[in-house]
Amino acid sequence: MKQNLLEKYARLIVKTGINIQQDQILVINSPIECAEFARLVAQVAYQEGARDVVMNWKDELFSRIRFLQAPEVVFEEFPEWQKQFYLNYLHKGAAFLSIAAADPELLKDVNPSRVAKAQKTASLALQEYREALMSNKNAWCVVSIPTTAWARKVFPGVPDEQAVAKLWEAIFEVVRVTNEDPVAAWEKHKQSLKKSMDFLNQYQFKSLHYKNSLGTDLTIELPEQHLWLGGAETTPAGLDFIANMPTEEVFTCPKRDGIHGKVVSSKPLNYNGNLIENFSLVFKEGKIVEYTAEKGQEVLQKLIETDEGSCYLGEVALVPYDSPISRLNILFFNTLFDENASCHLAFGKAYPVCIQNGENMSKAELTQLGVNDSLVHEDFMIGTADLEITGTTARGETVAIFKQGNFVF
Ligand code: ZN
Ligand code: ZN
Repeated sequence: MKQNLLEKYARLIVKTGINIQQDQILVINSPIECAEFARLVAQVAYQEGARDVVMNWKDELFSRIRFLQAPEVVFEEFPEWQKQFYLNYLHKGAAFLSIAAADPELLKDVNPSRVAKAQKTASLALQEYREALMSNKNAWCVVSIPTTAWARKVFPGVPDEQAVAKLWEAIFEVVRVTNEDPVAAWEKHKQSLKKSMDFLNQYQFKSLHYKNSLGTDLTIELPEQHLWLGGAETTPAGLDFIANMPTEEVFTCPKRDGIHGKVVSSKPLNYNGNLIENFSLVFKEGKIVEYTAEKGQEVLQKLIETDEGSCYLGEVALVPYDSPISRLNILFFNTLFDENASCHLAFGKAYPVCIQNGENMSKAELTQLGVNDSLVHEDFMIGTADLEITGTTARGETVAIFKQGNFVF
């Protein structure tokens, strides 16, 4: 039974997620704990025409040892060969698959400034690679499978084996692998997301206003020529891929200096092996001018202070409160899942593709239009059952978009 689902999942990832092409290279970034599944994906990729599959193994327990033991200076260095590894495959037109399965509390006893430093160093070194993917130059896809450490956090008090089985069950469900024909189920899902995108794109709202009983009271202006996207992304060659599996969001970019008011988080944020919980942010002219977190204040501070653009926002995403992931009522402590159960925003860099023709614009042109740039792009959840969102059009007309946490249409 499970083997059958695993194979369906691997095939869905290769065909619908990555949309592998004949003679294309597939790079798989995988935790060593997920090796068995990564190998299965590789096998399917070859069957579907991949020229080669390159395994890029990650070891989070070793990275924890390194954070605790290595001299500080190593977190300011990024190996040139690693940078060349990504660029080399990027320029060869490879597709990139990442398996995201981090232990949400892996680095809780590590000095946050070390983690922040390493993160910034890596982002700087891999800037070209990151920007190419954020502009959809190459196909990329992020998926998850359970690890014991992660499952323990999601289902505390449950024996390990059962916790892992429960997490598998939840993942199979939300990526639609339990459907008879997952590839067809995704086609249908893409169409339903398109309905929300079309509604929002037709209105070309000038601003959105968010309000709920948690204390969120926020206005977000949207730049001219913004585009709401969702479901499939498209490469310059016209090939569709799914950047995140699951995905339930439609999203666009906010206007950099057009955010005012207060927003309160609705789920914990797992940032680089640390949790930030119950936090709120106050914005003035787009910039975060005040922030506080019940847990993980220092980690939040490092995130917001990464660079000039990390105290501005780079994404506005709408997800109904009754989305399939939300209905499972599981807190995943993994942004890939939690962001798709909740309306969210992102600190930092905006996707250039959220502006018409943005992927062909220079940094200066994007800045001119109000598209934020940063070394970070980090989603955080703000959706609640009572969230109301109202749009204002260029002519000053107001339109209800969300009522009681869900789309009105
Ligand atoms: Zn998002
Ligand atoms: Zn995002």
